[in-house]
This record gives sequence, C-alpha cells and structure tokens, in this order.
Amino acid sequence: MRVQIMTDMEGVSGIVAWEQVNGGESMYEEGRRLYTEEINAAVRGAAAAGATEIVVVDCHGAGGPWTFNSLVPELLDPRCEWVAHHTWSRYVDMLESGCDAVLLVGMHAKAGTADGVLSHTISTVRWRHLWFNGQEVGEVGVNAALCGFYDAPVLLVTGDEAVCRESIDLLGEGLTTVAVKKGLSRYAARQIPPVRARQLIEEGARYALQNLAAVPPYALSSPTTITFDVGSPDHLDAFRGRPGVRLEPPYRVHSVGDDWMAAWNQIWHW
Ligand SMILES: [Zn+2]
Repeated sequence: MRVQIMTDMEGVSGIVAWEQVNGGESMYEEGRRLYTEEINAAVRGAAAAGATEIVVVDCHGAGGPWTFNSLVPELLDPRCEWVAHHTWSRYVDMLESGCDAVLLVGMHAKAGTADGVLSHTISTVRWRHLWFNGQEVGEVGVNAALCGFYDAPVLLVTGDEAVCRESIDLLGEGLTTVAVKKGLSRYAARQIPPVRARQLIEEGARYALQNLAAVPPYALSSPTTITFDVGSPDHLDAFRGRPGVRLEPPYRVHSVGDDWMAAWNQIWHW
C-alpha cells in the first residue's frame, strides 16, 4: 500500500499564531517540532495499517528558504521519505505512479471561517474565496481535487474542528477526521495537548487506511469551472488575457477547462 501524507502547519495542536508558522520568527522552531511530531504520528498509523511506501509532502509556505521546508529532518520517522521545497500542489510523482490513499495532516479551514484557527485560502492577502463548480472550497479542496484528478482518495483530515467539519461537508461521511483543537477565534483555541493529539492522529491514520474505498476520489465533473476572488482589484491584472479565463471586476476570476487540472493550470501561477 502506497500512502501520501500531505501536511500543513496551521492545524497542528499547540499552534494558534502566525509567529509559530512563519520561518525566522522566534516561535517557529517550537512550531516546526510540534508539526514534525504530528506528521510522525500519521506515519506510525500508516505503517501499522500496512503501508509499504509512505511519502510526506510538506505543503506549508513558511516564507523564504523555509517554504515547504518546515519539517525537522532528524526528528522524522525513518519509515517515511519526504518532499521538501517543492512547488505547492505540483508534486505528482507518487499520484501519477499509483497512490492508494492520501492523508491530510495539520490542515486549516478555508478563508472566512469564524472558528477556523489561522483560516485562509492559499494566501491571506492575495486570494480570498475559491469555488470548484460552484462549491466553496479551501486548501483541503485543492489538495483533494489534485489527488482526485489522479484517482487517489483522501481518507483522513486532521486539524481544528472547523476544517474537519468543512472536509466532511466536501468529501462525505466516510472521511475519518481528527480534531486536535476547537477554534474560539482565528487566533485562539481550546486544544488537546500534543501528546494526546498524536495518539489520536496515529489511531485515526491506522483506522482510515482499513478501508480504501471509504471515500471516493474527489473528481470534479467536466467541464470544470474554478472561480475565486482576489484580495484587491489590482490583483486581477495577473490573470488578464489568459485563455479560458474571464475576469469579473472588481475581484472575481472564472477559469473554465475540460477538467479540473486544465482549469487550474490556467490560473495557478505560483
Ligand atoms: Zn500552511
């Protein structure tokens, strides 16, 4: 069984502030240890479930050389390999070659979620809301759509209660979720301490991988329309004149493609 674990930092137990997830800040070193140990918990669960190949993909943009490079290498469980510093949502080697299941660990809720700890969608300033075929999604939706394009199901989501709720709404009741904190605002949470959170994640990963058919791959119907709002009107300029793309000033962009990947390629520029 080949398992890909896609990871973000904002949904980790103990993390409630940007200073804990932005590279170079004084609290970041603590944050990345908390992050790495939650990933290890998912690796242990996947290994216990019989995974023979486990690839961790760091998807957290921490800024500068830390971007997609926040895991502490010497702490990582030796049973995984990990992808660092790769462009966001573009690592597809494992998906292309046949991935049985994807686990999303440390996720955060989409932009505008009142009880979503550190909630945002892709960028806190350049993007706001995002829709796939009219359904609003956050980064869980983007990751699930990427995996779904390659027919791989997302079976586990961990993070705060808000992202767990969002993920079940999107992917269905067959999804296993582990909430490690309950957001009280964007920057406050009632939390489960990391030691217990890791136990829950390990158990959740192991449980989720018992049934690879529990969640169907998130495949968007064809043609696929991707719509999003930029953070300010001048940000529309980056999308002007692109094939398949229509601007709706002051904020909105529509991209229509034969499938999700085609529509995504027309607007994804990072
Ligand atoms: Zn992140």
